[in-house]
Amino acid sequence: MITRQPLPARLLHHRGVNSQWTIRTGDIVPAGAPIQRGERWQHAAATCVVAHCDADTARLDVIDDTPPGPEAPLDVNATSASDLLRRVHEAGIAGLGGGGYPTHLKLLTAARHGVHTLVINAMECEPGISCDAALSAEGGREIQQGINAVRRILAINTVTLAAASTMQVAMLDVDTRHIRENPSATDGAERYLLRDIFNVILTPGEYPVHHGFVVCNIGTLHAIGRAISGHVLTERVTTVFGDNRWLPIGLPLSELVRSDTARVGGRLSGHVVRVAGAMVDKTTNGIDTASTHMALPCIRCGRCDDACPEHLPVTGLLTFSAPPRVGTLERLGLANCVECGLCNPACPSDIDVLATLRDAKTTLIAERQRRSATALANTRATAHTHRLATQAEQREQRRRDRLARLRGATSD
Ligand code: SF4
Ligand code: SF4
Repeated sequence: MITRQPLPARLLHHRGVNSQWTIRTGDIVPAGAPIQRGERWQHAAATCVVAHCDADTARLDVIDDTPPGPEAPLDVNATSASDLLRRVHEAGIAGLGGGGYPTHLKLLTAARHGVHTLVINAMECEPGISCDAALSAEGGREIQQGINAVRRILAINTVTLAAASTMQVAMLDVDTRHIRENPSATDGAERYLLRDIFNVILTPGEYPVHHGFVVCNIGTLHAIGRAISGHVLTERVTTVFGDNRWLPIGLPLSELVRSDTARVGGRLSGHVVRVAGAMVDKTTNGIDTASTHMALPCIRCGRCDDACPEHLPVTGLLTFSAPPRVGTLERLGLANCVECGLCNPACPSDIDVLATLRDAKTTLIAERQRRSATALANTRATAHTHRLATQAEQREQRRRDRLARLRGATSD
């Protein structure tokens, strides 16, 4: 059974990418009202006074813990795809399986590519995480509502369920089912789902939409279903020390953890955070104690290489990750790391290999964005120069034409 965490006295929030606060210090915000808009919407989980709000963070003091009431529900069959999509956007739905990418953008991209199949990812396979299994047991109606909404938004032909056998998903109305006993830790990754179920291989840089598929986590579909029923996303289910709880988004981690550090996410792919100043966000699927082992130096045993499902030269990636040598990391294929974390338990030196690779990947992505911005600027500068040259040529031609007409008119 999923229990509910009492609301704390204070909520913490970060401003999302391409989003703006709608609040200022001193404002009173009703429960369920938006506190940021833009690409990522966020709403207050309770009635609060804004104790502090700067460019990046906001602190809200709870003054009334009555949860937000629902907006008017939508009838999926009688509502247009664009209105359903707007509801998904404005309810603040984001990928709850770990990515946190805004769901309306994912669905928009899928619509532009004309996908034909929705894959429900219920392959919860990270050790120590069971929030999706708990939701599937209690939230079948909302999940079905979410499936129906996505089916209508994208005019989907086929809905395929990919689930671990621990999921209670028998009641879902889908077209095909792939139930897996004891899935391995990587079976839930999109690229492995498509490979195992449809024999579709994603090459580096490709996404499921390039092959006509959109993959949605079952928890995200539950949130979409609730949004259609009028509930904005102010809470999520998280596995906290093995128990599943509804936690308000913005709950300070210090309300749950007494130590200085905690592991957020699964035992394999999660990361260790400092508890002070950290909070539950839409991607927080697990909270557990962090390992207190001190990492030892790398002995280059190669066990991380052997553990990697992508057959990456992990030892080499690690060597060139701190400080990151971008060109070498690109050539070694860092971008293909699926962040499964299987290299971590393989390491006899207790090195957090994944954390190092994640940091290096962040540098790699920033470098690629910088390069593509530079390439775009160069293309625009070249086009501008070409346009100026063409205009000068046309002006010169008009001048020659005028001269010729003048000479013709005055020749006799
Ligand atoms: S498993 Fe650990 S010690 Fe062995 S090569 Fe990889 S990082 Fe180094
Ligand atoms: S986290 Fe990356 S490097 Fe480590 S095993 Fe998984 S894919 Fe390989």
